[in-house]
Amino acid sequence: MTRRGFLASAAAVNLLARQSWIALDLLHGSRNVHWPGAENPVNMGSLLKPFLVLAYGATHTHFPVTHCNGSKDGCWFSHGHGDQDIINGLANSCNAYFLSLANEIDRAALDSVCLSYGLSAPDRNATNRKLIGLDLGWPQSPLVAVDAFARLIQNRRVPPVDVVLAGMERCAASGTARAIGLACYAKTGTAPCIHTPHAPGDGFVIAIYPRIQPRNITLLEEHGTTGAEAARGLLRKID
Ligand SMILES: [Zn+2]
Repeated sequence: MTRRGFLASAAAVNLLARQSWIALDLLHGSRNVHWPGAENPVNMGSLLKPFLVLAYGATHTHFPVTHCNGSKDGCWFSHGHGDQDIINGLANSCNAYFLSLANEIDRAALDSVCLSYGLSAPDRNATNRKLIGLDLGWPQSPLVAVDAFARLIQNRRVPPVDVVLAGMERCAASGTARAIGLACYAKTGTAPCIHTPHAPGDGFVIAIYPRIQPRNITLLEEHGTTGAEAARGLLRKID
């Protein structure tokens, strides 16, 4: 092998090691798992915010509008998102919006959503910050998370799932997952890195596609980056 060939293959191996992914074929129920330890719970940051929306919607008829001032409101976007409704709050993964939403979530309603979607319920003493994926987050097995999103798409016409999907559609079109570059439903997450060598963070992105008549779900984790950056690599995992 030439030196150039060796370097190219080494780079390819390095790239593979940086990413883990699961692809679920919704029509046949078959899955490709390229994720060592996919059954083990991991903090996926904001990825599970859609299920907080379902819990909030179980006991409220309307979603609030919240003003995000950025860092001082606990948001990742230091300049602030301004006024956020539920659709933009999801699309932008606005922490200020979701901290305020989490504050009004009925714990029994959240447990019921977890039961319906097969998710592990958060600790009884989980803070609002953990619920929205900050600090130690709301750890979940990647396999379980993919199945929960599959159930979400099955329920797409049932309120407030329709609202969640409208937010995930905007997330893919113009929000944190826009780098996917595909008409789909998507959500991103960024969590502290759990790997060695250690990086500041790990990025997660999930996409349900095509948006019209979805057939597949892919969840991708990329070591050493953000969810928004991980979104760039998702299209390469799609057949
Ligand atoms: Zn914000």
